[in-house]
Amino acid sequence: MNARPLMFFGTTNLDLCFNVERLPTPGESLMGALTRHPGGKGANQAVAAARLGLKPHFYTYLGDDDAGQSLLKSLMEAGVRTEAITVCAGEVSGLAVVMVADDGSNMIVIDPGANSKVGPDMIESATKFIERDAIVVAEMGMPIPALNRLFEMKREKGFELIFNPAPVRPGLPSAAWRNVDFVTPNQTEAFELTGIEVCDFESAARAAEKLLDLGPGAALITLGAQGAYYADCTGSFSLRAFPVKVVDTTAAGDAFNGAFAASLAQRLPLKEAVRKALAVAALCVTRRGAQSSMPTAQAVDEFLQ
Ligand code: ADP
Repeated sequence: MNARPLMFFGTTNLDLCFNVERLPTPGESLMGALTRHPGGKGANQAVAAARLGLKPHFYTYLGDDDAGQSLLKSLMEAGVRTEAITVCAGEVSGLAVVMVADDGSNMIVIDPGANSKVGPDMIESATKFIERDAIVVAEMGMPIPALNRLFEMKREKGFELIFNPAPVRPGLPSAAWRNVDFVTPNQTEAFELTGIEVCDFESAARAAEKLLDLGPGAALITLGAQGAYYADCTGSFSLRAFPVKVVDTTAAGDAFNGAFAASLAQRLPLKEAVRKALAVAALCVTRRGAQSSMPTAQAVDEFLQ
């Protein structure tokens, strides 16, 4: 059976990555090696899905600078469909400074640049790329009015909506949550949305219950090295993360979300889709970088054998 159409909405950044022995403390200067990589949550998620063999559309807003050109090129090379993307005259592309320590932990600061200029009208015109029976994935880096318009378009277009609420920001109208089919926070985002500290599956269950009260159809919370917890109004389950040697946790959540959406698009049953997302995210943390660390379908199949 054919895969369902898939479209991602979100941010694209050029990542300036510093590899450091450990993360700096306030006031401290450290030496680190600098590399440049394409990144941004939306772009990372779309690339994760494309590596798994999907042909996802992606909507993002790029500056008309050198960074924008190279970001567009790398998306195309990864197999992401870029027809919906807007390149805007006079804007600079999003830029992120990422520090990755030897233990794999990271710190990130972002200048959103063009990403912050997306308006509701642009979202409306981009939704013409959403095909029938599509799965749409959104993250919270886009301006809230644009995000809200996308959620409203669900009523007209009838797509299935996965919402990665990262980074959590205020302003989303409470009615918007009812348009979400799956909300997929990590532990920090689940805490920010519910006030419940998520440290294990038991506390994830309590947070998921509170998330469901907001209005989405299902809550899928990722818990880093512990795995993921799923709940909807009919039941719940948890799955453990695959044990791997961690090199760099950058984009683990993006890998998880991109792979979860891709797996649903490939019509995998729900629990299998979560298991595959855990495998893709586990492989992602064994490699350095964001998009460069997204595994191919073949690597995932071999890992799961
Ligand atoms: P984020 O990257 O958004 O902070 P998480 O830290 O929850 O999100 O990680 C997302 C997913 O990545 C987890 O559910 C898990 O599948 C995988 N993952 C993250 N860290 C590890 C790890 N140390 N070992 C194995 N899998 C991991």
